[in-house]
Amino acid sequence: MIELVGMKTSELRDFAVQSGEKNFRGTQLARWIYDKNISQIDEMTDLSLAFREKLKEQNASLSLLEEIRSLEDGEKTRKFLFKLNNKKGKEENVESVLLPYPERVTACISTQVGCAIGCRFCATGETGFVRDLSAGEIVDQVRFMNRHSDRRITNVVLMGMGEPLLNYEATLKAIDILNEEMGIGMRGITLSTCGITPKIRELAKRKLQLTLAVSLHAPSDEMRDSLVPINRKYPLAELKEAMKEYAELTGRRVTIEYVMLRDVNDTVVMARRLADYLRGLHCQINLIPCHEAANDFLPSDSETMHRFAEVLKEIGFPVTTRAERGLKIAAACGQLRRRVENA
Ligand code: SF4
Repeated sequence: MIELVGMKTSELRDFAVQSGEKNFRGTQLARWIYDKNISQIDEMTDLSLAFREKLKEQNASLSLLEEIRSLEDGEKTRKFLFKLNNKKGKEENVESVLLPYPERVTACISTQVGCAIGCRFCATGETGFVRDLSAGEIVDQVRFMNRHSDRRITNVVLMGMGEPLLNYEATLKAIDILNEEMGIGMRGITLSTCGITPKIRELAKRKLQLTLAVSLHAPSDEMRDSLVPINRKYPLAELKEAMKEYAELTGRRVTIEYVMLRDVNDTVVMARRLADYLRGLHCQINLIPCHEAANDFLPSDSETMHRFAEVLKEIGFPVTTRAERGLKIAAACGQLRRRVENA
């Protein structure tokens, strides 16, 4: 199968020439794929019938995933479970979420099938790593949701299943396509990582204007070793250095993600420790209520979250509390897939 989705215009132009066509046919392909978000070869009505037939003979594909289930809540948050069209026998699924807001439309997408990191509060981590997605499979989630949204997607968060920095090349190519081919501004793209420090440094050198979000969740190595096991390999001191380098080289503020787990990491003492750890880093802190799939953990109550936020604000950190949309539809990563697989 030839994945046309995931090729840049220049690659599509080369592909057209290799297929015996003029190179401008590649530009036409790019327009159909990334502007029109089409999924069928015959929709490309300005290509000759002969070229379309040739594409079919070459098994060229414009659709790398298939919806097998979707759920919507009262706020129009829509979660999709996709089957990947990879013809490799075993069914492989990923999840994406479409979040329409008055001023923007956000797509939350996956970069891997499963995840090797094994965070204790995460449904995806429980099932282990299966494989990396290709750049085309990452981009196709956004194309699919564009077809199912009455407004075009303006923002993308790489915060679904998987650790994007462990699928670095495909993720970076997908970001390039989202930005250059699909017109999504770099500042509208957020890459969320659990803290793969060598890759944070590598990314920093590219000086992209995207937002780096780091899933911190704990203010001490002891606690983080247990919640986010990759911390044993890349402990907090090293992570802070990498985040500082990122902020300095890109001029961008790092977002610190902190999931609030009742009686685990949500006390005033923890808030002060978090502030100590983050001192000197250009960052903003995002407190996230934990969700129903958080294994043995319970969500912090709103009063505790408020108190935690106030401690950080008084010390001078910008703090937001993310309203966790989609809780009713299992929109946290890995939940829908697990629900379907367990059904
Ligand atoms: S929270 Fe993210 S990094 Fe951790 S296991 Fe889940 S998908 Fe992987």
